Formats: sequence, C-alpha cells, structure tokens
Amino acid sequence: MNALRTAADRLRAAIANGQGPADSDAAATIIESGAQAALAAGARGSLRPVLNATGVVIHTNLGRAPIAPVALERLAAIAAGYSNLEYDLAEGTRGSRTVHAESLLTTLTGAEAAVVVNNNAAALLLILTALANGREVVISRGELVEIGGGFRVPDVMRQSGATLREVGTTNRTRTNDYTATVSKATALFLRVHPSNFRIEGFTERPSLAELVTAGRAMGVPVVDNIGSGCLLDELAGEPSVHASIAAGVDLVCFSGDKLLGGPQCGIIAGRKALVEPLRAHPLMRAVRVDKLTFAILEATLAEYVAGRASSTVPVQRMLHATAAEIETRAMALGGQLAARGWQIALMSGSSAVGGGSAPGLGLPTVLLSISRGAESAAATEAWLRTLDPPIVARIEDDRVVLDLRTVLPEQDKTLADLLSRT
Ligand SMILES: *Cc1c(COP(=O)(O)O)cnc(C)c1O
Repeated sequence: MNALRTAADRLRAAIANGQGPADSDAAATIIESGAQAALAAGARGSLRPVLNATGVVIHTNLGRAPIAPVALERLAAIAAGYSNLEYDLAEGTRGSRTVHAESLLTTLTGAEAAVVVNNNAAALLLILTALANGREVVISRGELVEIGGGFRVPDVMRQSGATLREVGTTNRTRTNDYTATVSKATALFLRVHPSNFRIEGFTERPSLAELVTAGRAMGVPVVDNIGSGCLLDELAGEPSVHASIAAGVDLVCFSGDKLLGGPQCGIIAGRKALVEPLRAHPLMRAVRVDKLTFAILEATLAEYVAGRASSTVPVQRMLHATAAEIETRAMALGGQLAARGWQIALMSGSSAVGGGSAPGLGLPTVLLSISRGAESAAATEAWLRTLDPPIVARIEDDRVVLDLRTVLPEQDKTLADLLSRT
C-alpha cells in the first residue's frame, strides 16, 4: 500500500506541475512510475547483492569478504538440516559448540587453543571482561585507535570494566613505558594493530618479542589485537597471526571476514590457560556464533590447511590477481561496451586492500573508464547504482572507473549484460 501511495503522490505532484498523463492512463502510470519496483523491493527486504567495482577488496560497507564456493556448499549442507553443533556423536550426549573450528585454527596458527565469537570487537570485549575486569590494561597512546564505524578501542575497553593505563606518546612508546606502570592491579599488556593509518617519521614501539619478554618477566600476559587476521605470511605490513603466536603473545584476536576471507566472526587464539576462562565466561553466551558461521569458517580454514586458499578464497584470489590478469578482463569488457556505444579507456591505477588492512598499500591494477555522450561522471555513477544488481563504481579524475579486481570473474558477463542495456 505504501508503494502505491508513494507512486500516487508522485503522480499528483506531476499533475500539479502540468505534466500529468491523460486521465485514462493514470492508473497505469501509478503502477509504472515505480510502484511495481517498490512493491518488489518491499517483498524482497532491503539486503541485496551488488557488484563491487570499486577495487576495495575488503569493503566493510559492501559486506567485506565474499564467501568461497566450497564454503557455500558446506553452508548449504549444514543450514538445510540438523548438525552436531552441540552434540557429542561418540558419546551420544550434549557437546560444546565452542570446540568447532578449534583444531583447524590451532593447526594454522600454532596456538594451543582457539575460540570463535561474533566479531573482533566482541573478541576484545570478552578478553578484557574475562581477564581484566576491575583491573588495569596497559596500552600505548599510539594504539588508542578508532577502527571505523565509530568503533573506538578505548570505548570498548571501558565497557569491559577494565581501566586503561595509557603509556608513551602518540609516536613513541618504549618497553620500559609498559614495565614502569606495572603494579598488582595490572592485568594485561594490550597491543592494537593501528590498522587503518600509518604513523611515519620519528616513531618507535617495542617489537612484539620485546614486549613478550617484558610481560613474561613481570608476569603480565600480552594480548595482540591484530585486526585483519592474515593467515598467509606475505602481505606487506600486515602482521600474520602465525608471526604473532610465534613471537610468544599469550592471546591474539582478529576478524574472520577481513584478510582471512571468511564469515563475520572474531577469532581468539593463544594459550589454553587463557582461552579456557573465555570459553567459560557468561559473556560467551552473548557473543557466540551460530552453525552457519561455523560451517563457512571451517570450510574456509580447510582451504588454508590444504594450501589452496590463494586461489580458492575470493579475498585471497583478488589480492593475488595481477594487473596483467585484470587488464585482460578489462579489455574484453571494454570491447563489448565500446560496441554498445560507450566511450571507454583503460588506465593504470591502484586497488586498495580495505577493511583497515595494509593502509598505504596500493595494489597495481588496470581501470576501465566508461562514459556515454555528455553525461556527467556523477550521473553515470548514480545510474550504475540503479541497476539490478546495482554496480558500485568509483569516480577518479572526474571519470567513472571500474576496477575488475573486486568483480568476481564469473560476474564479468553480468556486468557486460547490465551495461549493454543502456
Ligand atoms: C577491524 C578491526 C576491529 C573490529 O573488528 P570487527 O570484526 O569488525 O568487529 C578491531 N580492531 C582492529 C585493529 C581492526 O582492524
């Protein structure tokens, strides 16, 4: 009804402006002028697939990681029926859901134990609540970051009932800044990867190994919030989970839907003696994940264990795509569009990792710039968003550009078809 009312209002306004149709056409016009589309949208809900042509691989506004096809198969199998989510098949008794994904995670990270929660913010909240409530957590002033979407590390810490002990300065913090604050009240040393910015110039912070050594000497566990959770070692500037565990941190936490390329979740890995209290904490119930998350996560992690992730996990495949591969696809698409009246050009540019990962690291890419007639870049970009599925592109130097790095190769045809219906 709302859709019809809105369409009728629009028509009334048009008639008042002297642009109305003949009386006999009014009903048809109401339906055509958007009521049909609005009704369809109302029946479908608001979450829709979109084509990400922005070149930002981990785009939080666009849902972060696309899920690997093998993980979708596992999801379908688990989601469509019952599963052993909290059931011990050997004993025929109640089991624990928090055991799922653990052996894959310990294999991949080298940690003794691991537990999965709803997202990395929840991971941090759980760690601080369970291990530092009513006590002090020491953190460098250079790491009191806002991650995006208004998520500020200090605010989450306050929710946990832990007291922040800020040490050092924005650009320089030394090991003895941490150790000098230690008292009976000290619960943890917290490291936060400053994921979405980079301080350059006159900077200093202790290496993880130095902090771990200091923590051990004083009996203070070290928690490392690395944000992105890179399971492969190679991405410039991104701490890998494995390196963090190897440096001896007691707990590491990271997101499942950033560089890992899995479902939204937060993963905590580390020493068993610290993971067990997290599992047993009452807050665990409020931040636990469902069977759908476990299904996708385990299947995605299995690709890493099998050594196939760089070609089968979409986020990894996109990050590994070369400019030459992207250029080949851009040329093919450009050729099709040119035949349909678009003015096209290829230009070199750079894609972004996104998701607060690897700030400043641009991945060389080839962009396809598209325009038609005298239409402005802003108008073309807005039109792309009205398509079904909508295409989200970016404007660079006053031109609409498509970066195929973030378009799944099997979506190239959809993109060509959408743009051919001009
Ligand atoms: C992304 C990020 C978070 C938040 O993770 P979510 O999984 O989105 O809750 C927290 N800390 C750091 C350092 C991050 O990069």
